[in-house]
Amino acid sequence: MEASSKGKNRRRGKKRRKASGNQPPEASVDVSEQAPSALTSKRRKLGAATSSKVNKPTSFLDKMRARLSGGHFRMLNEKLYTCSGNEAFDYFKEDPELFSVYHTGYQEQMSRWPEQPVNIIITWLKSRNPSLTVADFGCGDARLAKNVKNKVFSIDLVSNDPSVIACDMSQTPLESSSVDVAVFCLSLMGTNYPSYITEATRVLKTGGWLLIAEVKSRFDPNNGGADPVEFSEAIKDLGFSLVSQDMKNKMFILFYFRKKEKSASARNINWPELKACIYKRR
Ligand code: SAH
Repeated sequence: MEASSKGKNRRRGKKRRKASGNQPPEASVDVSEQAPSALTSKRRKLGAATSSKVNKPTSFLDKMRARLSGGHFRMLNEKLYTCSGNEAFDYFKEDPELFSVYHTGYQEQMSRWPEQPVNIIITWLKSRNPSLTVADFGCGDARLAKNVKNKVFSIDLVSNDPSVIACDMSQTPLESSSVDVAVFCLSLMGTNYPSYITEATRVLKTGGWLLIAEVKSRFDPNNGGADPVEFSEAIKDLGFSLVSQDMKNKMFILFYFRKKEKSASARNINWPELKACIYKRR
């Protein structure tokens, strides 16, 4: 039973990949969600269970709701990784509710990670002067701003909180040379990611920090991912020095850069492609 349902899952996985053949290559993140084949048999069993144990109907409904929202999350996640920031902004503008759907799924995925990069960045900021001004590019639920004393400009595609600036982060309303720390925590999602880093370069002061946390599999050259050295070289060419690179976490990699006095044009830089990070069904 086990083996055959796994086989079906694999075949379905292949079909899905074929369908998205013209999209950027995918980085897979191993998360536990079952494919519909396993789901169907489980649904039958659950159906039987709920008809005999009428006192537990909510657990069945809750499970079905969770499945649906898991699928919806994966669809939105793929969308964000395979379109430009501009398109993503328009997409959510049309239906801001989708942003909540995305973030419910995102938090569910994050709860399985042994460590969340945003917490490492919070600890890093707390060990520094709280007078440093921060810009959190792709802030999500603005957890960073809520957990530090610093002035934080929280930026995302949708604003669910008055403190969050809703915009495509390739064009923010922030003043040039106005922030000390620019953070991208799992947010280099669009196909035009270099334009986000260019925008951060514009708003950073000389000597300012650029912190980038990204899913590790996106930087695994043995698995179709970008070479982390090529990535950091591109950012160095833009006008940064690499201070350190933290590779010790299982799920993500964290780069710490500082802005130099002179910046270059992003156009002449050889930016490596960053794969989409698609969450797998299991
Ligand atoms: N940094 C947060 C959330 C990460 S999820 C955390 O670590 O918890 C990635 C976030 O980046 C999402 O909220 C998504 O909406 C945002 N994002 C992706 N592309 C964006 C863009 N072009 N402009 C603004 N926000 C963007």
